Amino acid sequence: MRALITGGAGFVGSHLAEALLQKGHHVFVLDDLSTGKIDNIEHLKSHDRFGYLIGSVLDETVLAELVEQCDVVFHLAAVVGVKLIIDEPVRTIETNVHGTEVVLRCAARHRRPVLIVSTSEVYGKGIQVPFREGSDLVLGATTQHRWAYACSKAIDEFLGLAYWKEKRVPVIITRLFNTVGPRQRGRYGMVIPNFVRQALSGGPITVFGDGRQTRCFGYVGDVVQALIGLATDPRAVGEVFNVGNDEEISIETLAKKIKLLTNSQAEIVKIPYHEAYEPGFEDMFRRVPDIRKVKELLNWRPEVGTDELLTKIIEYTRQSQSR
Ligand code: UDP
Repeated sequence: MRALITGGAGFVGSHLAEALLQKGHHVFVLDDLSTGKIDNIEHLKSHDRFGYLIGSVLDETVLAELVEQCDVVFHLAAVVGVKLIIDEPVRTIETNVHGTEVVLRCAARHRRPVLIVSTSEVYGKGIQVPFREGSDLVLGATTQHRWAYACSKAIDEFLGLAYWKEKRVPVIITRLFNTVGPRQRGRYGMVIPNFVRQALSGGPITVFGDGRQTRCFGYVGDVVQALIGLATDPRAVGEVFNVGNDEEISIETLAKKIKLLTNSQAEIVKIPYHEAYEPGFEDMFRRVPDIRKVKELLNWRPEVGTDELLTKIIEYTRQSQSR
């Protein structure tokens, strides 16, 4: 199979590329390096089944050609990271919505299957935990930029499902819950790379809010296996799937765990949300996926638990800091 990965030099995209190559597929990456890094795919460049182009998904001429040459599109190119989204809301909305529009238009021309990588952010402030694919989406006011991201990804989902319904483009929607692993950067606000870096550099470890909010962290290696399984299973077409791990942990416990695992003397400090993000910032109190749908379809399950993934990330960060 020849796979095109938009956003393939990003954190998840580069792991997906690696996993597809390992399975014997051909991989072509398109990335504008806005948040992706060429370093992420450096080790793949010499592979004879790998190719890449630095360019934007918004460039329809380029994309049309790449889509024609592939058998399946993994659409990951998007603006990600809560911090970046708040700082650059125009770029967030335009890239996310217009990028998906271009990908789907090109896919429709050649009837190529598209797996759209969406996000658990679309559930917003939903209170029916765990989140099921059919749950209501509960978003906040338009004056809070965080919700622009959720809304832009929800539009991507609507558009993808509309292309399936109206034009029979095989589209699969995946909602990724907090995905973590080596190569993820804390620069855009993600909590685990931040805490690990802070713990290793002597701190302080910055817990936003009161730390009682919870998340479930999925290991990127597990997540990309589910993405490949879904993209290649005809039963997944026209459907939405949560992808992640359902092991729940509070952010304060996470900070303590990382401090312990790194043997760090760093102090854990609490920072109010309005200082960490912007006035009026709204966080999700609990975010837990119901992953029964993907598990049952693919006979897939997350194999790496929270403790193991933290150990892997700490080890990776230590090694990259000593390089
Ligand atoms: N967070 C934190 N300290 C940090 C970065 C994030 O306490 O340095 C919190 C953040 O407020 C949220 C959780 O950790 O409650 C997860 O944040 P992240 O940005 O990784 O992902 P989100 O789930 O918000 O998309």
